[in-house]
Amino acid sequence: MIVKQTEFIKSATKPSHYPEGSLPEIAFAGRSNVGKSSLVNVLVNRKNLVRTSSTPGRTQLINFFQVNDDFMLVDLPGYGYAKVPLAVKKEWRPMMETYLSKRRNLRGVVLILDIRRTPTEEDQQMLAWLRAFSVPPIIVITKCDKVSKNERAKQSSVIMEKLQLKKEDLNYFSALSREGKDAVWARIDALLAP
Ligand code: GDP
Repeated sequence: MIVKQTEFIKSATKPSHYPEGSLPEIAFAGRSNVGKSSLVNVLVNRKNLVRTSSTPGRTQLINFFQVNDDFMLVDLPGYGYAKVPLAVKKEWRPMMETYLSKRRNLRGVVLILDIRRTPTEEDQQMLAWLRAFSVPPIIVITKCDKVSKNERAKQSSVIMEKLQLKKEDLNYFSALSREGKDAVWARIDALLAP
């Protein structure tokens, strides 16, 4: 896809606040600090479209951005940040489950993982929801510039085992080198194709 324009539309916590219209949607999910904002900014060629929102105590929001007239890019709240108050943390599950199960125009979710980390329970939960609700996942493993080829292979095995994934499910990415940008777009384009 050639991104000509990206525009913030609105934030929402519940279905009545989701934007109306019939544009297909691709959502982005991952633990706080995984590199979600960096990935999105590289994909849409912007320095600061999406900012990291892991500020402790802040309400977790689903942010909707329109890309061209082609699709809605949805930034889901990052999870797993230790300092987020319990009350805010508790909102995450119902908010995610509702969005993932009810959003009719959702075509797929980009699940972002850090090459250096073992997937967490929340990562597993996210993938379990996607499988349960038949939402196609795009697995993106980011920060690949931080590890050697050997380490990449080793960590890939850990991730595949933990999340029951196959080699061909994995897309390697680096916001620094931009490795993987075209491959991630190809996966998104494929899900958006009518
Ligand atoms: P978010 O909380 O998931 O949105 O994460 P950010 O995109 O804000 O990234 C968190 C930190 O990781 C920042 O300091 C980024 O500069 C860094 N980061 C993100 N992606 C990469 C990457 O591919 N390579 C490297 N080396 N650093 C990255």
